Amino acid sequence: VGVTVLLPDLLLEDGRFVAGRAVLVDDASGRIRDVVDAAVELPAGARRVALPGRALLPGFVNAHSHSFQRLIRGRTHWRPAAENADFWTWREAMYEAALRLSPEQLHDVAHFCFIEMLRAGYTTVGEFHYLQMDPAGKPYADPNELARAVIAAARSAGIRIVLLNSCYVTGGIGEPLRPEQRRFATPELDGYLTATDALRTAAAEWPGVTVGVAPHSVRAVPADWLEPIAAWAEERDTPFHMHVSEQPAEVEACTAAYGVRPVELLAREGVLGPRLTAVHATHLTENEIVLLGGANATVCACPTTERDLGDGILHAGALTAAGARVAVGTDSQTIIEPLEEIRLVEYHERLRSQRRIIVTDLRGDRRETAPALLRIGTEHGARALGVQAGALLAGLAADFVAVDLEHRSLAGTDAEGLAAMLALSGHPDVVTDAWVGGRRVVEDRVHPLEPEATAAFRTVAAQ
Ligand SMILES: [Zn+2]
Repeated sequence: VGVTVLLPDLLLEDGRFVAGRAVLVDDASGRIRDVVDAAVELPAGARRVALPGRALLPGFVNAHSHSFQRLIRGRTHWRPAAENADFWTWREAMYEAALRLSPEQLHDVAHFCFIEMLRAGYTTVGEFHYLQMDPAGKPYADPNELARAVIAAARSAGIRIVLLNSCYVTGGIGEPLRPEQRRFATPELDGYLTATDALRTAAAEWPGVTVGVAPHSVRAVPADWLEPIAAWAEERDTPFHMHVSEQPAEVEACTAAYGVRPVELLAREGVLGPRLTAVHATHLTENEIVLLGGANATVCACPTTERDLGDGILHAGALTAAGARVAVGTDSQTIIEPLEEIRLVEYHERLRSQRRIIVTDLRGDRRETAPALLRIGTEHGARALGVQAGALLAGLAADFVAVDLEHRSLAGTDAEGLAAMLALSGHPDVVTDAWVGGRRVVEDRVHPLEPEATAAFRTVAAQ
């Protein structure tokens, strides 16, 4: 009947793990047909996949990635003895990596990076793509040459991708691009939107690929570009992502140039709304928190990157209380582990506030962290990227991960306690399997292309 039935010991429904349930997947569409009682309602003739010792949950959504930055992991943790290091010195190393990659090398780095994501439990990636020109800063014959290389890598790896095509115009507000930023260049607005439309048309033929827009930041994109880009996104119902307030220097430059802070500028330009995902947002005033919350916007935290780069700590509790949704992303690929990313949203708040249980869902008379963190890693990311996924519900994409209930880091819990054990303490190796659109792309901790992708990545990294 074209239906596959997944039969795990436990599965996640409404923030809790429950026993005796099965997921029916419609093979043709790659979507969830239903979630049912495993004892009585299985359709005759369906293919059964027993998953003993496993719990099933929605695949994690990585809402903010720059896959090429996987190349500089581990290479930036030093400084000249007499100099200081910060985000801005890290950026120089990132530029060097960006300048040297051919389209084929970019593909190989992204391919390996996406397989690392799938192995860790991410089934969707939002790739914030700002590498556009050739190494000399000249356009490729096809302006989407490099975007296509990244998309091809995602399709080969089997991860769902939302290519967030970026524009990058200025080296700082009102300043020309620096020579080392030449590959990011967007010469003019119409050409950018035309190329993004062409990519979107092409992507309609590729399952698991969609396209959105991403003006890089207030540093790199003039304010008067924002409204037309947002209108483009609105007409086509695509996501609109932007780096916002990652560093104090960016906020100061914005205030000096425009007389308002970055989130206030977005409000003034009319681009603050539920379609917006503001990435980082680690330096907000009370007023900016209220603006983002009132707009029902998403804020994408990238805590493993933010602690690496010294960006600061997201006010996740205040933002969610104000009405914003928090999602997570791997950003610079310092660490690719969804459980680490979601738990830091809460743990960083605890360190700052010297309190506990900050980011929560209300459950009866209790406030609980785990269901809120799991939604941050799944539902909220899917919403930020405009994909129909992120929960075990009929009609959504059959994107799942399975975790190993026998893993030592989960020992000593029961179904009731599993969400907290997993979200706050689970080891990354608990993830055993990943399904994207109903296809099992990681099986028992094996992705079939991992050996060759790793070899190709090592070749690029060694050059
Ligand atoms: Zn970023």
